[in-house]
Amino acid sequence: MNPRLEEIYVNLEKSYPTQKEYLQAAKEILSTLSPVADAHPEYVQAKLFERFVEPERIICFRVSWVDDKGEVQINHGYRVQFNSALGAYKGGLRFHPSVNLSILKFLGLEQVLKNSLTGLPIGGGKGGSDFDPKGKSDHEVMAFCQAFMTELYRHIGEFTDVPAGDIGVGGREIGYLYGQYRRIVQRNDGVLTGKGLTYGGSLVRTEATGYGLCYFGERALETMKHDSFKGKTVVISGSGNVAIYAAQKAMVLGANVVAMSDSNGYIHDPNGIDLAAVRDIKEVRRGRIKEYVADHPSATYVEGSRGIWSIPCDIALPCATQNEIGLEEAKTLVANGVIAVFEGANMPCLLEASRYFMENKIIYGPAKAANAGGVATSGFEMMQNAGRVSWSFEEVDAMLKKTMENIFDHCYATASSYGDPYDILLGANVYGFEKVADAMMKQGII
Ligand code: NDP
Repeated sequence: MNPRLEEIYVNLEKSYPTQKEYLQAAKEILSTLSPVADAHPEYVQAKLFERFVEPERIICFRVSWVDDKGEVQINHGYRVQFNSALGAYKGGLRFHPSVNLSILKFLGLEQVLKNSLTGLPIGGGKGGSDFDPKGKSDHEVMAFCQAFMTELYRHIGEFTDVPAGDIGVGGREIGYLYGQYRRIVQRNDGVLTGKGLTYGGSLVRTEATGYGLCYFGERALETMKHDSFKGKTVVISGSGNVAIYAAQKAMVLGANVVAMSDSNGYIHDPNGIDLAAVRDIKEVRRGRIKEYVADHPSATYVEGSRGIWSIPCDIALPCATQNEIGLEEAKTLVANGVIAVFEGANMPCLLEASRYFMENKIIYGPAKAANAGGVATSGFEMMQNAGRVSWSFEEVDAMLKKTMENIFDHCYATASSYGDPYDILLGANVYGFEKVADAMMKQGII
């Protein structure tokens, strides 16, 4: 690492010793930006790297609400407004008990580069709460969302900050959040993306991250190995929004998806996962993935979600959460013959695992590039809202596909120009960073 960047990282460690996910993301990014620091002494002079890794603003607030038993509940709410050099902050809200500032700062930092890669004029942010929607009634989820938005509304707006969904925040939560926002501000400015189709949502937004992941993967396989998803065995972690639509598109492209998971364990169905059954369990019944085996005798359920990576596959799509694949899982995947790993979740691979894939010439699609389809389609939703128009499914899907192919092409070209076409992580970081850096330099010291 360039000594100046190394020093920045050491200072971050001193300032935020307990923020391990944030430090992990900052290290991953800084470790690939040495060529940029070497080529641009003016960035070093302007302390641009130091400014880049610090959020512009963090908002923390209390969320008080009343549960179905009449008891008062208190959660923590956050919005990390990371970087607005390219445009309004844009990034999801996560509702999960693990949510803390370290996780939101890591997600916000990644989001800045991801949004830059889409080519759209959007900055990066992330937010959420340690509230757990799991096991709550619809009424409780609504009460929480209304309390959360009663504070958040004053910090967001179509030209300032446009949140979306993430883990634990799907169509139901976005609906309640948007309803409360409108009630308070008395404006229909579409401030959230991922909205329902009857009130300003975009077709394809629900499917976008999973579909986009496969479009990125298909382009990468074609370019780097003259290959495709067709006939491949695919393992997908998670069974939420990203995982379900990644599975659907992988199947359409001719792959056999044999395993999926949730936070308790995984199912393995060598005949191919029955996606309609998974959707019924997770989307309709809000149940657990182990229920799948009850009426699928060819399938087995194993407790504990990490073991999913021991199933031999050609393509691995980690689509659940951060740090799912460490070095050990990476070695197992490679030993079992994996040819490509595309990240649907944010930072599912530890840096050692990503490096191991790249060193072994496995195609590795880093999250900020491979899962950018969700935010890109959120950008398309914003455009439709601003123009008071609705585009067809085919139009949005075609734009998504083109965007993902462009992202891969740019990252691959950048990686190749720095000497290793397999280092798409460097390609994504450098290509995404250069645009943000240029915008920050031109806008002065702020
Ligand atoms: P969902 O809440 O819809 O689904 C999350 C899935 O991951 C569930 O199956 C959940 O299981 C599982 N999961 C959550 N935590 C863990 C854990 N600690 N260990 C194992 N499994 C876990 O979220 P999304 O599908 O929207 O998001 C998944 C990932 O994709 C996240 O990293 C998110 O940041 C990223 N992402 C999402 C985008 C989007 O458009 N939605 C856009 C870009 C990235 P369970 O049901 O047991 O909780």
